[in-house]
Amino acid sequence: MERIGIYGGTFNPPHIGHMAAARQAIKLLRLSKLLLIPDRIAPHKQLPENSPSPQQRLEMLTVAAADIPQAEVSQLELRREGPSYTYLTVEALKQRYPQAQLVLIMGTDMFLSFESWKNWRWLIENVTLAVLYRGQKGEKSAIREKRDALCAQGAQVELVENQVTAISSTDLRRMLAFQCASPFLPEGVLAYIRQQGLYETGRDLWQLPMDRLEQVVISLLKPGRVAHVLGCRDTAVELAKHWGADTTDAARAGILHDITKALDGPLQLTLCREHGIILDDFSTRNPKTLHALTGSFVAQRIFGENDAVVTAIRSHTTGRAGMGLLEKIIYVADYMEPNRDFPGVEELRRLAFSDLDGAMRLGLEMTVSILRGNGAQISAASLEALDDLNRNLR
Ligand code: FE
Ligand code: FE
Repeated sequence: MERIGIYGGTFNPPHIGHMAAARQAIKLLRLSKLLLIPDRIAPHKQLPENSPSPQQRLEMLTVAAADIPQAEVSQLELRREGPSYTYLTVEALKQRYPQAQLVLIMGTDMFLSFESWKNWRWLIENVTLAVLYRGQKGEKSAIREKRDALCAQGAQVELVENQVTAISSTDLRRMLAFQCASPFLPEGVLAYIRQQGLYETGRDLWQLPMDRLEQVVISLLKPGRVAHVLGCRDTAVELAKHWGADTTDAARAGILHDITKALDGPLQLTLCREHGIILDDFSTRNPKTLHALTGSFVAQRIFGENDAVVTAIRSHTTGRAGMGLLEKIIYVADYMEPNRDFPGVEELRRLAFSDLDGAMRLGLEMTVSILRGNGAQISAASLEALDDLNRNLR
């Protein structure tokens, strides 16, 4: 019997993870045809702002799938009014392919919540379920349990281990904004995105006015980091007023200081590789501190910020010897902004307005002692910064 795979998703944008999964599904599930079906409105998620139109998602997917002979892009869900319920798609495909065995492909999350799908009982009577899973710890046993439970109710379930490293669409859009997404996108898709100016690629981010800068930065941060970044900006402005630094630079450095923080270690390293940033030993081994380096690079090359802002972002995690006024302000503001809460923060807040170097020293000492306590490596820049402050004290 002909086996036809059904692979749905928002494909916003379609990336190499999707295409590798499609190839794997065709091979391991022995499919004669694989239908790639972009959602019209996914019942499980809302599309972010500035997303491509349904037509553009369709075109990107067509470009991406061009070199997979068994793949066929279907407009079934895009054309239908209302939400993209899977059972409606399956109903339509049963009419179109009455002789075929339909194989519904899904990821782990979807499978584990399968009983929340509309008409799931009808679905298990009419399709085979195929789960692409990553084989991480704990995942396998949860999937097997769910499979056994569904099979007891008459479902047919096939499990396919999928070793492809995935990237989330959110991270992909960040990488597009930082101009380093090419390792994750089929060449044709990247060209299409650039030509149509999709996602952030059509935006000129050079020297944005403050309100636009704030919007763009917020769209690239993890939601949980927004309050910290706004707090850091406000604190930096207060400190700049108090110590006579440029308040505009302080605000811009404050808002941009964690611009690449949402990227995990491997994505930080990808950004560096794509832009030819050469890393020292410490950074390679401590990718957590890399966001200061990558953030300063992005601030300079993509946001067109001035040297004072760029330098302040560069030194905000480790400090360095010979820091300038704005660098100290950003370092201290990052440490004491209103959302920070730890023993000693009040002393730091008091010092920041009476003795900025004293506040710097306290911050550095706390960081060094925490790192020592954790047995972590301490950046040479931090130790040199402390030496420098202590020398000036004498
Ligand atoms: Fe930071
Ligand atoms: Fe920060």
